[in-house]
Parts: sequence; C-alpha cells; structure tokens
Amino acid sequence: MLWGSLLADGETVARYWSHVLRRGADACWWWTGGLSDTAHGTFRALSLPGKTRRGTVPAHLFGYRLAHGPDSIPAGMVVRHRCDEPPCQNPAHWLLGTRGDNNRDAASRRRLVGHALADVRGAIGRARAVQAAIAAADPDRLDEAIAAALAAGNPTGAHQDSLF
Ligand SMILES: [Zn+2]
Repeated sequence: MLWGSLLADGETVARYWSHVLRRGADACWWWTGGLSDTAHGTFRALSLPGKTRRGTVPAHLFGYRLAHGPDSIPAGMVVRHRCDEPPCQNPAHWLLGTRGDNNRDAASRRRLVGHALADVRGAIGRARAVQAAIAAADPDRLDEAIAAALAAGNPTGAHQDSLF
C-alpha cells in the first residue's frame, strides 16, 4: 500500500479524524466509523494511482503512520493497543510489537476478570456497544455513557486494569 500518498492526501486525513472521538490524553479515543471483524476501525481512503476504486484502510495502521511517519512500522511488526481496545485511536495507547507478543499478552489477560478481553460480548460486540452509546449520549455525559457501555460486558462489575 502506498502509505505516503494516503498520508499526504488531505481529504483522507480529514476523513480519518472525522471518525475519531478525541478525548483526554489518557482516555481511549474511540473510532466511530466502520469496524472489521476484529473490532479494528476501517475507512475508505482515496483512489490510489492505477486503482479504480477506493481501498479500505485499517484505521490504527493509518493513525500510527500519521503520528510517526509512513515507514514507522517495520516488516514483521504489528501495532498493539496497550488498552486492549482495538478501535482505540489514541497514539499514546499504541506500541509496536510482534504478533507473538500480542498473542502471549492476550492469552494472559483474557482470563482477568473485568478486563476488556474478558468482555462477554467479544471484541466486536464491545466496540459496537461503545459506538451506540456515543451516538445516543448526551454530549455532557459522554464519559459516563462510555463507561456504562464498557461495564455492561463484564457482569461481575470488576474494573479493568491496564497491563502497562
Ligand atoms: Zn485506548
């Protein structure tokens, strides 16, 4: 994929940000656009040279490169979410790692009561619940609406810990 062209295209960058709910420095920045089966954000980017239709771009891979440069993800590396929320677009919640790191951490954290990875709705159900809560929320009570949508997936009511 021609990341340099995508990142230099103002319309594509604007479309990316139009789907990001930017919040405080420590909060998750929820993706409000399309979602993949794995609950990662996706969006349509500009037509690349030689292509007749727009391509679908994973939002976190676009956003990581937007923050760190087009060549910032070495071959074999993946962008991981410290917060374990795949739709999250807060650059402070991303770090590079290997797929092995990712799988190992997920396996250990999935068993933690109250953790994002233990959500009974699965990652995609959790992401859709947050999007629905954002869409329906009183703008002055957004944090409460998101917190309630997250808590609903962990019926035990335990709070979520971040590993990092
Ligand atoms: Zn996050």
